[in-house]
Parts: sequence; C-alpha cells; structure tokens
Amino acid sequence: MSESIEAGPAQHRLFFALWPDDALRQQIERNTCQAIKEAGGRRIPAGNFHVTLVFIGEVPEQQVAGVIAAACEVRAQPFALTLDMLESWTGADVLVYSGEQAPPALGALVDRLRISLLRHQFKLQRQTFKPHITLVRRLPRRLPKRPLAALQWPVSDFALVESRGGPDGSIYTVIGRWPLA
Ligand code: ATP
Ligand code: MG
Repeated sequence: MSESIEAGPAQHRLFFALWPDDALRQQIERNTCQAIKEAGGRRIPAGNFHVTLVFIGEVPEQQVAGVIAAACEVRAQPFALTLDMLESWTGADVLVYSGEQAPPALGALVDRLRISLLRHQFKLQRQTFKPHITLVRRLPRRLPKRPLAALQWPVSDFALVESRGGPDGSIYTVIGRWPLA
C-alpha cells in the first residue's frame, strides 16, 4: 500500500504485557468490582485488563519486525504473580490492583525485554516497574491504600500488544505471544 506524503509511514503504538485469559479476567472483576463501584471515575473494561511490562511507544511499520525479533530472543522462566493491594496513584489519577512483592523472575523478564529492545536499537524511556492492573482512570479522589482479595496468576507467557485510540478509550490487539520456559 502506498502512503501519502502528508500522513508519513504508519505508526504502531506497542507495549509488552502480561495478558490474562478469560478465567483470570473474570476473577479480577470479581475481586475488584465492589472497589471499582465505590471509586467512581472511568472504568477500564475487563477485556482491557493487563500488566504492562515495557511501554515501547510509536513504532514505524517497517520496525515492527524488529520488536518481534527482540521478543523472540528473550528467554525467561514462568512465575507466579500475586496481586493483593488496591491503591490510587496521584498524577496519573488511576486506581490500580497491585502486587507488593514482584517475583524476581518478573523483574528479570522486564529487564530482558528492555535489554533486547535496546540491542535492536529501540529507545526506551526510563520506567520504574511495579506490577499492576489499571482498573479506573480519571479517579475523582484519592483512596487509602488497602489489601484486596489476592489474585494468584500463574504466568506462562508474555504478549506484544498494539494500542489504538477508540471512541470509548484504548482498543488493544495482541499481535504476538511468547511462552516462558
Ligand atoms: P488511554 O491512554 O487511552 O487512557 P492506555 O494508557 O491504556 O489508555 P496507552 O496510552 O496506549 O493506552 O498505553 C498502553 C499501556 O502502556 C498502558 O498500560 C499504559 O499504562 C502504558 N503506558 C503508556 N504510556 C506509558 C509510559 N510513558 N510509561 C509507561 N507506561 C506507559
Ligand atoms: Mg495512556
């Protein structure tokens, strides 16, 4: 397909994430629905729940293959992730389901993804990593941090996800998944 000069090359907004299956999504909903109702703000649809590992940002069409190659080179072990806290983050005005203790294997996965992307010449912003699922955006008021029913997530793969703006918030499409072994 030819591109118009004005539009420039197509860009893809990409990030690596942990992507729950349907059963986990239902469990996340069950564990958080009461808190979400009380919080107000803009609820994230259950189909969009995820844990961002590395946000890459806008990638030109011809460099998407490089992101996929970077993912293919990552070796990391499966692990269990526990999310057990509800907290609001000011600045971002979000309500999140977070984990106090990130398993070392999760930190290793994030580091390896970042290193692999850097090797493939992708520039990354500095990001401090704390595992969380965003539940609500535009939170009207800060809520005290409190424990929430624990979610035990056996993580056996990671995903590359594309984000597009939609009329009711972002629309995500999983464009690749890689097993941990
Ligand atoms: P919206 O921007 O429509 O409210 P969103 O933030 O979920 O929705 P994106 O902005 O495309 O959609 O972000 C995709 C994922 O990457 C989200 O989990 C988001 O929190 C995370 N993310 C976005 N920008 C950054 C950033 N600069 N640093 C770290 N993570 C980011
Ligand atoms: Mg955003």
